[in-house]
Amino acid sequence: MTAVQLSRRGIPSVLIDGSGRMGRGVAYATTESVHLLNVPSAKMSAWPDRPSDFAEWLGDDGTAFAERRVFGRYLESILKGAEGMRLIEGRVIGAERVGESWCLQLEQGEVLTTSAVVLASGNQAPAPLSVANGLPADLFVNNPWSDEAHEAIARVAADGGDVLVLGTGLTTIDTVLSLIAAGHRGRIVALSRRGLLPRTHAPHEPAPVERSELPSGDLVALWRWVRRRSAEVGFRGAVDSLRPHSSALWQAFGAGGERRFLRHARPWWDVHRHRIAPQIGRQLQQLVASGQLTVMAGRLQSLSDDGGELVASIRARGQDRVRDHRFGVAFNCTGPLGEMARTTDPLLRQLLADEQVRPDHLGIGLAVDERNRAGEGIWAVGPLTKGRYWEIVAVPDIRGQVADVADELARELGQ
Ligand SMILES: Cc1cc2nc3c(=O)[nH]c(=O)nc-3n(C[C@H](O)[C@H](O)[C@H](O)COP(=O)(O)OP(=O)(O)OC[C@H]3O[C@@H](n4cnc5c(N)ncnc54)[C@H](O)[C@@H]3O)c2cc1C
Repeated sequence: MTAVQLSRRGIPSVLIDGSGRMGRGVAYATTESVHLLNVPSAKMSAWPDRPSDFAEWLGDDGTAFAERRVFGRYLESILKGAEGMRLIEGRVIGAERVGESWCLQLEQGEVLTTSAVVLASGNQAPAPLSVANGLPADLFVNNPWSDEAHEAIARVAADGGDVLVLGTGLTTIDTVLSLIAAGHRGRIVALSRRGLLPRTHAPHEPAPVERSELPSGDLVALWRWVRRRSAEVGFRGAVDSLRPHSSALWQAFGAGGERRFLRHARPWWDVHRHRIAPQIGRQLQQLVASGQLTVMAGRLQSLSDDGGELVASIRARGQDRVRDHRFGVAFNCTGPLGEMARTTDPLLRQLLADEQVRPDHLGIGLAVDERNRAGEGIWAVGPLTKGRYWEIVAVPDIRGQVADVADELARELGQ
């Protein structure tokens, strides 16, 4: 989206992607029809000034939860239509500031010189869990978006073993849907500390609020406001009404309040804010009712390999006793990497080591200023900037940010 915004402004760009799925990223590279968008088509346009573009492209009335792979095709069509852009399939492994320019080193050996760099590296694979140290990769799959994960799903569906999924959020739901689509008949246990599943979308009246009506800088007061408002207009209306104010509210918390939010409020916020398509909600209900899916609140104490079977010691929430459960495989669906210091991306590691960029104050992404600058001649967008904005992972938020960055680059580069 950044590259096409630059193209609109007549700024030539090089779009470099090392995943082999140019322009799609983790979210939209899925090839599975069961993986749906969690946002209705009316809100998924790539263009902030043409909000119905995706719904029109799709040919629906804006209410559909389209397949994510179809959204990937939409992004590709936008990319194809843009001019002045070079696409390079490859990984950037280093970047050096030389005078007013950047020299980018590609894994294949090529070196590129550019006037500016925009980092849009997105969601990174989860950090390895220490509880899974030493386990063979066929028993514990750390990256649920990898080819290894697809192979493990096919294998366990064929074997009929039980599956442990760590986490109960959107990635877990993707994995459960993939397992069922692959014909898996064994049990699936989804485990998280609180056992909260994302809520479903449902029609509701918008209930907009002014920023001045909202408590500022006080997490507990805001929480009470959301509860009160939810009782009046329903949680969907209440939660959605905060969207236009989310980054201002986030910043008003200050670092201490933001940390408290991440520690205590985030699980509840995530399940009410990032809702799933109604048809997926119904499917999950059926899986729970049939006993195939168990959503469990508890703590994983240990994992071990017992002759090719995975033994998980779990303490259910509110109980003292730790019980052993046996599985054919486990998937880490606890979410993307949340600690910038642990990134394995060679480019980010080098930029951080050279202090060309630095982690944000929470250590969850990169520090950027109010114009999304991460350093001299370098910008960051999307999930990398969540320390500053928090709500900057979904398309409706990112599209405005990248248009702003393109404006800024046009000014910087005198175009
Ligand atoms: C499973 C999933 C489902 C989602 N569903 C929705 C949804 O329904 N609606 C919604 O609005 N949002 C959704 N999101 C949010 C999603 O993150 C954003 O919509 C968006 O994909 C983020 O875009 P991005 O370009 O910043 O990062 P990404 O889409 O993650 O793309 C980053 C790309 O950069 C590449 N890369 C990273 N480092 C390098 C390097 N050093 N060299 C070369 N290439 C590199 C990566 O391989 C990747 O291909 C979902 C996210 C996930 C993970």
